[in-house]
Amino acid sequence: MTSPQEPVPVRPVLPVRSDLAGLEPYGAPQLDVRVRLNVNENPFPPSSAVVEDIAASVGRAAAGLNRYPDRDFPELRAALADYLAVESHVRVDPGLVWAANGSNEVMVQILQAFGGCGRTVVSFAPTYSMYHEYARDTCTRWVQGERGDGFRLDVDEVELVLEREHPSVLLLASPNNPTGTALDPESARRVLDLTRASGPEVEGGRAATLVVIDEAYGEFRRDGVPSALEMLADNPHLVVSRTMSKAFGMAGLRLGYMVAAREVIDAVMLVRLPYHLSAVTQAAALAALRHREELMAQIAGLRGERDALATWLREQGYTVADSDANFVLFGTFPDREGVFRALLDRGVLIRVVGPEGWLRVSVGTPEETAAFRAALTEVTA
Ligand code: PMP
Repeated sequence: MTSPQEPVPVRPVLPVRSDLAGLEPYGAPQLDVRVRLNVNENPFPPSSAVVEDIAASVGRAAAGLNRYPDRDFPELRAALADYLAVESHVRVDPGLVWAANGSNEVMVQILQAFGGCGRTVVSFAPTYSMYHEYARDTCTRWVQGERGDGFRLDVDEVELVLEREHPSVLLLASPNNPTGTALDPESARRVLDLTRASGPEVEGGRAATLVVIDEAYGEFRRDGVPSALEMLADNPHLVVSRTMSKAFGMAGLRLGYMVAAREVIDAVMLVRLPYHLSAVTQAAALAALRHREELMAQIAGLRGERDALATWLREQGYTVADSDANFVLFGTFPDREGVFRALLDRGVLIRVVGPEGWLRVSVGTPEETAAFRAALTEVTA
């Protein structure tokens, strides 16, 4: 307490990092509206069987919460490996699976271990806008090239950027957000060949560039599009990142994971915070994975909805990016903000993202998608 006679203490200036000063935190609006199609979630809540199993498992974990959780969570890693064997027909050693609180955290850990001050991370726009924040937060130099026609990765452009920048990490989302574009296997193979010695100098020679293929939306890929998991065996510089947030319908759980070579896992374990994955998260994730068949059954339906939505948008005369994800990028609008707001006025929340003029809509339940179609028709009439 200060008396009237005492001078008011000068409020000290706090030493926030100069590159953070004045920035706004990242995040799509979390609005309580009728139809939420803005962050690519699975629109179906877990069934009561899943909810009950999660609740019982978390209850058992709660009895041991006086202890720190298992730092290495082998049971969860084995369950994730089993899931991938069913989902992608690739059997990976559970020891090569690593998990964290969302794939966002997995990728930050990768940059903590392989990026850092004096290092460079590269990606190709338009792509997931969090990538440059991972770079900023880990003191890694951020370089962004451009995608080619139809938002496809232009491997010649990748080669030029690699030769110029010698990045230690290349981040490629496949399917890409916000465009939905999957990386074709031939391009992936070429990129993996180009990156065997394109990285920073290490011990007098060129190290590889670590290629992170972010398959957050991998389960939604169309038939015939392989997962990059198939290429892991021949490419120790490949990391495949996945998440339970999207197709698996567990965005609220915060569980992302990756598969990579032993040396990558070992390096990430050096930078992870101790006990980063809570016992509650581990128990809930294991319970959810026990119901994988039920959760995976929704994926086919969502893919069908996605294709129908893209077809409908094309029939309305929009340009639509081919999508292997659970969202569709469409346009172009002279005033996309106006369209976004008019949809919101009708209780439909989508996302203003991607190149100027484009909008992105997530695939919802059939009722939600119908509400979006009706609102868009009204707004653009
Ligand atoms: N990668 C991509 C391409 C994404 O779109 C997202 C979420 N929007 C993530 C990663 C992060 O997902 P999570 O942290 O929930 O696993």
